[in-house]
Amino acid sequence: MADQTYDYDVLVIGAGPGGYVAAIRAAQLGLRTACAESRETLGGTCLNVGCIPSKAMLHASEYFEAAKGGAMAEMGIEVTPKLNLEKMHAQRIDAVGGLTKGIEFLFRKNKVDWLKGRASFEGAHAVKVGDKSYTAKNVVIATGSSVTPLPGVTIDQKVVVDSTGALELPKVPRKMVVIGGGVIGLELGSVWRRLGAEVTVVEFLDQLLPGMDMDVRKEAAKIFKKQGMALKLGTKVTGVSVKGAKATLTVEPAAGGAGETLEADCVLVSIGRRPNTDGLGLDAIGLELNPRGQIETDHDFATKVPGVWAIGDVIPGPMLAHKAEDEGIAVAENIAGMTGIVNHDVIPGVVYTQPEIAGVGLTEEAAKERGEVKVGKFPMMANSRAKTNHEPDGFVKVIADAKTDRVLGVWCIASVAGTMIAEAALAMEFGATSEDIAYTCHAHPTHSEAIKEAAMAVTGKPIHM
Ligand code: FAD
Ligand code: NAD
Repeated sequence: MADQTYDYDVLVIGAGPGGYVAAIRAAQLGLRTACAESRETLGGTCLNVGCIPSKAMLHASEYFEAAKGGAMAEMGIEVTPKLNLEKMHAQRIDAVGGLTKGIEFLFRKNKVDWLKGRASFEGAHAVKVGDKSYTAKNVVIATGSSVTPLPGVTIDQKVVVDSTGALELPKVPRKMVVIGGGVIGLELGSVWRRLGAEVTVVEFLDQLLPGMDMDVRKEAAKIFKKQGMALKLGTKVTGVSVKGAKATLTVEPAAGGAGETLEADCVLVSIGRRPNTDGLGLDAIGLELNPRGQIETDHDFATKVPGVWAIGDVIPGPMLAHKAEDEGIAVAENIAGMTGIVNHDVIPGVVYTQPEIAGVGLTEEAAKERGEVKVGKFPMMANSRAKTNHEPDGFVKVIADAKTDRVLGVWCIASVAGTMIAEAALAMEFGATSEDIAYTCHAHPTHSEAIKEAAMAVTGKPIHM
């Protein structure tokens, strides 16, 4: 299969979860593979400044909050925790270091050449990395995404931070304002609230978490408020000024009306991310971007330019690490002449707050636009394990086609919703009906029994409700 006309069969640009997985799979399939990365370490946004460090801080701060009050005291464990923020950061840095080194090991093991430096196209089969040029029969663009800036607001990573700055704050802010009530704002806002900050989330839309099921969005807002987060929904930020260590924000209702000012010693800008294509030299190969700045591909992840492929955050679809990884495997298999497929209808999404918020498939709103549906819901309050663990918040909701009973979407708010949703994704991948889930034996006592009960509720027959 190897074509000696080129330096490589496959050259992947970007070593995030999309790129590094594509490179490893290509090498496993016997292709001579290189992966170019401009960052000092492998693993992309996800391992360096995204999924992994944020989960390290979420996990640690969750323990801190449990010790501080509520949860542990309720179980008879009375302690007064002392925050050692330096150590909390050290374990985050440690987790990142271990995992990024792990990718280096996997590259060596699979004989993937790591080309260090920024890559740009010189031609469809020619890529410059740093000051060296390489040729490749196939080039995979996996350059990921970066923070969307808010016009007129300068990120100084001290008072006004993006997600990277918010992971590394050297002290707990007294007052933090989060601009954007999406996944990053809620996860990182939760970290600092748990550690003692007064957190206000300013969201332009009238609900948090766009894209999720409306029941989930409403319930999530109630839970975050109960936890002490102030929410300003339907509100836009019109300006941020910084004087010394303090920021003043001017905000006003999105629909118009009288504005107000908010003071903060930390402002997190988390209004979304945009694809990384600057400086890639796409002009050199005649590859155009769509109006959202993304690279379009066909179902096989091939772009319009023969031999050039694209995956991950730089192409349309949810900006999620597991979506990028699956596309990485599929693109490598397609390059190798196999059939690599990603089912974009079944990509789970999880918000790692406490409780976790997860979903897969269609929202009830989207499902209803396509036809008649049946919906089953089951509260975590009625799940024996959640109740015993003092985790009563949330519910599971199963949405099924009214005629065929095929499951179209599953949504959960539960302490371990991120783990529970895997079952729903698997069921949907196999085309399950709600009856299939309802008649599958689930271990007792587990949170997952709530999925079974919600599936039973689709036909109106849950047992514990
Ligand atoms: P990236 O991970 O962005 O990797 C692209 C790589 O390409 C980068 O390392 C970049 O340096 C490199 N690169 C770019 N241009 C060039 C060039 N010209 N030459 C060489 N190298 C280049 N997703 C989840 O699924 N779960 C989570 O819990 C989660 N948490 C997140 C938390 C935060 C704070 C953030 C910011 C994101 C989070 N995400 C999460 C999203 C996830 O990180 C991304 O969806 C994922 O990393 C995308 O993978 P990718 O391979 O497409 O791109
Ligand atoms: P997001 O798209 O999830 O949320 C951005 C929010 O900001 C939206 O609710 C939007 O309405 C709001 N917004 C936009 N402009 C605004 C403005 N001017 N004022 C107030 N609100 C405004 O984006 P994010 O939270 O920045 O996350 C970026 C990406 O990273 C997401 O696509 C997400 O998938 C990914 N991510 C995933 C995870 C996870 O899977 N757990 C965690 C973090 C990030």
